Amino acid sequence: GNETLVVAGGVAAGMSAAAKAKRENQNLTVRVYERGPHVAYGQCGLPYYLAGHLERAEELVVRQPAVFREQGVAVHLFHEALELDTKNQRIVVANRISGRQEKVAYDHLVIATGADPVMPAMPGTHLPGVLPLKTIPDAEAIQQFLSDPQVKQVVLVGGGYINVEMAEAALARGKKVRLIQRPGQVLNHMDEDFGKAAGEVLERHGVRLHLKETVQALEGTTRVSQVVTDQGTYPADLVIIALGVRPNTRWLPANEFHQLSNGALVTDAFSRTNRDHHFAAGDCAGVYHRIRKEQVYLPLGTTANKQGMIAGACIAGKPQPFGGILGTAIVKVMDRTFGKTGISEKEARALHLPFETVTVTGASHAGSYPGAGKITIKLIYHQHYRTLLGAQLRGPVEGAKRLDVLAVALQQEMTVEELAMTDLSYAPPYATVWDVVQVAARAAK
Ligand code: FAD
Repeated sequence: GNETLVVAGGVAAGMSAAAKAKRENQNLTVRVYERGPHVAYGQCGLPYYLAGHLERAEELVVRQPAVFREQGVAVHLFHEALELDTKNQRIVVANRISGRQEKVAYDHLVIATGADPVMPAMPGTHLPGVLPLKTIPDAEAIQQFLSDPQVKQVVLVGGGYINVEMAEAALARGKKVRLIQRPGQVLNHMDEDFGKAAGEVLERHGVRLHLKETVQALEGTTRVSQVVTDQGTYPADLVIIALGVRPNTRWLPANEFHQLSNGALVTDAFSRTNRDHHFAAGDCAGVYHRIRKEQVYLPLGTTANKQGMIAGACIAGKPQPFGGILGTAIVKVMDRTFGKTGISEKEARALHLPFETVTVTGASHAGSYPGAGKITIKLIYHQHYRTLLGAQLRGPVEGAKRLDVLAVALQQEMTVEELAMTDLSYAPPYATVWDVVQVAARAAK
């Protein structure tokens, strides 16, 4: 008879796998079980919904369940995968509304249960007004608080890209914003000079930044009213916790899958786990890092879509390998753009690689055309081979295209000399005759 693909989790990775498998093999029976009320939505847009750019968070749903059903993908909302029996190839799912449980047999399983926000162990995290941001319901809960004129003070705990984006959103909604975190720089995945610059941008726009400060408790009676740290007590009407995520793999049987130390499932180039017929993709999985040359945990929507698609193709009998990631990531910090691809100087040092760095600042386009800004690029490259190991960048929005040029150069293992001589576009509104990327590469000694 027909083979059955079961997918647990229905956001970026899960729906990419389901749709690709069905498209490539119409004979497959495809069933998706999603714990929550939505499938196939773009989490990345949630801060921009909260900034006021969208009317409803549900506008972030890319494809409704009915559209998937028409394509032959059965979508079961409010169904949570509870148990997995890898030997008999069955999962137990619970209908979260009726409470009924059923066993579902599969020939292939894609584990795409993503990750949940890490909530710190401290008093008061249960108080109304203390919220993470990961799902549409999370965003709707935050929205209620942001829409309340009594809510004036927003405290952001954690300074990764989500809270940097939320700082802009909360300022746009007319709130007072304080960001508190233990590390000495925001955007801790970047080097210190970039983290410092990002912090300065936030402060220039009115964010009160508390670095090297530890939140110890959240206090309030009926809802949160203040945040207590090792250095002070601050008023808070809304607290957003963004301290990273943890893979949702605790529902899997212990000791059957190869996992990273945080529980993420180790995957190969076809999104396969170590067990036949069991695939993993997205925020619950590890991924091969092309520069680090090891499996890493770097949960991003870009990777989730690719790993899901790769799993679907393999299950449909049309395998195509995925060469891994570079860790390319970009974030808008108020009116500035910060990006990274490959490894940072910190990482190069920790890996004991012989490396050099060069940092240059150049114009985003020619002075003969109005509106040029300054783009700063830092290259990290191998001391002997002169191949690129990483790049970081900050500047106006035009920086984004430079980051992607750098990502392709890294992917192709270019040397700084090769990068310097690439045939990039030039006309005064767009670049300088030697683009800032090439200026950086030429400065590499
Ligand atoms: P998830 O999105 O976590 O989805 C997993 C799904 O599985 C969830 O819906 C969950 O309910 C469900 N589930 C969990 N356990 C079970 C179970 N036992 N049974 C059934 N279902 C279950 N990435 C970028 O690349 N660029 C960005 O700009 C960016 N911005 C972001 C902004 C925010 C605010 C957030 C939260 C994330 C952002 N990301 C961004 C990251 C990106 O959204 C995630 O990497 C992506 O959503 C991962 O997709 P996923 O399908 O692997 O996992």
